[in-house]
Amino acid sequence: MSLSTTTVEKRLLATAEHLNAPNKSQPTSVPWVHPHLEQGVVPIKGRQLRASQPIRQGELLMIDVPYALIPVVDDPASSDSLLCSNPTCSRQTQHGSGRMSCPSRCLADVVWCNSTCQEADELRHEFECTWLQRYAAPIRAKWGEYDFGMMWLIVRILASRHMERQQLSDTENQTNQRFKGGWDAIQSFCGSLDSWAHSQVRSWTALVKKYLRSSPVLPHDLSADEIVALICREEANSFGLYPRETGVYPVPEPPVDRGEQFAAAVYPRAAIANHSCSPNIMHKPDHHGRMVFTASRDIAAGEECCISYFDLSKRVDLKSRRDHLQGLFRFVCGCDRCSAEEPSEKESNWVGLPFLE
Ligand SMILES: [Zn+2]
Ligand SMILES: [Zn+2]
Ligand SMILES: [Zn+2]
Repeated sequence: MSLSTTTVEKRLLATAEHLNAPNKSQPTSVPWVHPHLEQGVVPIKGRQLRASQPIRQGELLMIDVPYALIPVVDDPASSDSLLCSNPTCSRQTQHGSGRMSCPSRCLADVVWCNSTCQEADELRHEFECTWLQRYAAPIRAKWGEYDFGMMWLIVRILASRHMERQQLSDTENQTNQRFKGGWDAIQSFCGSLDSWAHSQVRSWTALVKKYLRSSPVLPHDLSADEIVALICREEANSFGLYPRETGVYPVPEPPVDRGEQFAAAVYPRAAIANHSCSPNIMHKPDHHGRMVFTASRDIAAGEECCISYFDLSKRVDLKSRRDHLQGLFRFVCGCDRCSAEEPSEKESNWVGLPFLE
């Protein structure tokens, strides 16, 4: 026990130093998972994260590296929160700091901190560059920012898969054995076709046929159906990146929101965490776009470890939380907090359950 505790503490210290000094020697492409965090499968709910042994409040639980990440900013040319496109960097680049754009001028949102980052990212970017040149502007004009971002994230997932298959990416080798990484992990995400409305699936299918088919512009060798299935999983599992913590509970008074979204990303391991409206994990991206999970209270052995999928300071009452989760993530929340706030059967007969305030 004492030996393993020492190892854990050393590891935590090393990780904490790493987080505080993101530019130092340690590589940013290596995920880290707390030794007491394990993956389980339960009937109906599917996969979950849980503690195999007690975890103390404040301990780091996971640092996951994105499989794909896109910046989300209003005005890329003047934005100070545009992220470097080199996946192993993903730092915010300041406007006027000498950041570099693509020589082919594919998209104003594609920048690198410097020539080192650009060179390191050359092969990956090559996969998306022609697609962006051809489709980014028309998709934005016709379908809007949300659908463009969704499709660009899919293209970046395909670029990572391409790199992995060419063995140009070393993410697979560094996969923690308890957790899958890479394309394997993306394929095992929850979020099947039939959890989405037919109209939604039809609209995604139309987008895939028009813009995401395998072609010389986007050579991925997957069928249109496989790409639609990938979108279903991406939409159910991607994270918005915000400057402050998500999932602080109880919500402090006065409430602190998580700030403006600056990116969206897909994480192979962090995606396993289920939602709770009274979560025991807070999550926040670090300076390299990695997702960091921290225990927000003591967690007992065997307890499920959950995050919040939305800003708890913004949606307070039961109905608004459930409506939001149902709309965006396709499930009715049955977490401890929602169950406790449900009206008793007698009350619900009087008021009518779905409209209860
Ligand atoms: Zn960079
Ligand atoms: Zn380009
Ligand atoms: Zn809930």
